[in-house]
Amino acid sequence: MGVPGLDALLADGGVRGQRVFVRADLNVPLRDGRVSDDTRIRASLPTLRRLVDAGARVVVASHLGRPEGERRPELSLRPVAARLGELLEQRVAFADDCVGPAAEAVVDGLGEGEVALLENLRFHAGETKNDPEFARALAALADAYVNDAFGTAHRAHASTAGMVSQVARHAAGDLLASELQHLRVVLEPERPLLCLLGGAKVSDKLAVLEALAPRADVLAIGGAMAYTFLRALGQPTGASLVEETLVGEASKVLAAAKAAGRRLLLPTDHVVARELAEDAEARVVKEIPEGWMGLDVGPETAAAYAAEATRARTVFWNGPMGVFEMERFAGGTREVARGVAESAAVSVVGGGDSLAAINQLGLADRITHCSTGGGASLEFVQGLALPGVVALGDV
Ligand code: AMP
Repeated sequence: MGVPGLDALLADGGVRGQRVFVRADLNVPLRDGRVSDDTRIRASLPTLRRLVDAGARVVVASHLGRPEGERRPELSLRPVAARLGELLEQRVAFADDCVGPAAEAVVDGLGEGEVALLENLRFHAGETKNDPEFARALAALADAYVNDAFGTAHRAHASTAGMVSQVARHAAGDLLASELQHLRVVLEPERPLLCLLGGAKVSDKLAVLEALAPRADVLAIGGAMAYTFLRALGQPTGASLVEETLVGEASKVLAAAKAAGRRLLLPTDHVVARELAEDAEARVVKEIPEGWMGLDVGPETAAAYAAEATRARTVFWNGPMGVFEMERFAGGTREVARGVAESAAVSVVGGGDSLAAINQLGLADRITHCSTGGGASLEFVQGLALPGVVALGDV
């Protein structure tokens, strides 16, 4: 099964002269009123170029940051329109609002093959609330709807879900289609499947841990999450971040992996410090001493996880192995990044820190698929239906 893609939309009556509303993910970092990293804008170009070439009147919409329903000038998409225009090598009109007369005037003014960007969707509270009236106002700007924003596909918002049924024709953009195609591999993997999960909190990733523990041939855990698991095994965790209320859940995940005959790996050595600081005294230990906290997996663990990547045929990785933002505690994440890149396995990597590690090492072209959506990819590999995908007619 699958969602209709751009090919179907372009073939089925074409889009020449039609207003095609593209929900893109242009949630990029800004500095001093300029786009400081345009990766997401570039990722949206293939779909936009195809629609421009097909003579559509292209209406692009996105969110930026979390304005929580208020007009916040520092979260305006105007600088993004400028950068998008440079990359597309054509003028991109900007509408000061994403609905109502300001948006309608700009969209009405578009000719064939022209592009407009609408102001931040989240300046309206109706976006994240999936308010039907707001969804109708968005749909009023569209003859056809394309979702290319994988990063928000796990949210049932007005622009990702509510408006879709009100537009006669819809399709997944090329970026969304490619994400779904690659992530499906994790659901139906060539085995062995290795899942590497890191990051700060078990509470954020409990559902994915529960889903993957019985399914992955090997589930290797790093980051602060590991300490809640070590506590569940009765091992010393010193002053490391342990989520006391989830120790019981961690035990259940360990038991589920065991019952399914799967391997769940935890760090066997650690980089520890007494404080979370770049210049803190750091040591590598096998057992975390009282008063010290684990801030990265140790070299033995990193090498073991990297070796698992070499043996696997499918690898899914989300989340850093340590406090990757600080050089002193970035070694584990880097070593794992190297291992995943060197592996011949099909590799899918999601999440900001894991991708940052891959990019810093210049290894992105050795990863099968770098996902643009951390949270959405975690929901997808659990086997959950993504509202933005369901809305497009996936069955
Ligand atoms: P997440 O957003 O859940 O992927 O978590 C990413 C965050 O986890 C990063 O900011 C890391 O600094 C943090 N993190 C990873 N390992 C540790 C650790 N051992 N102790 C504290 N924070 C950590």
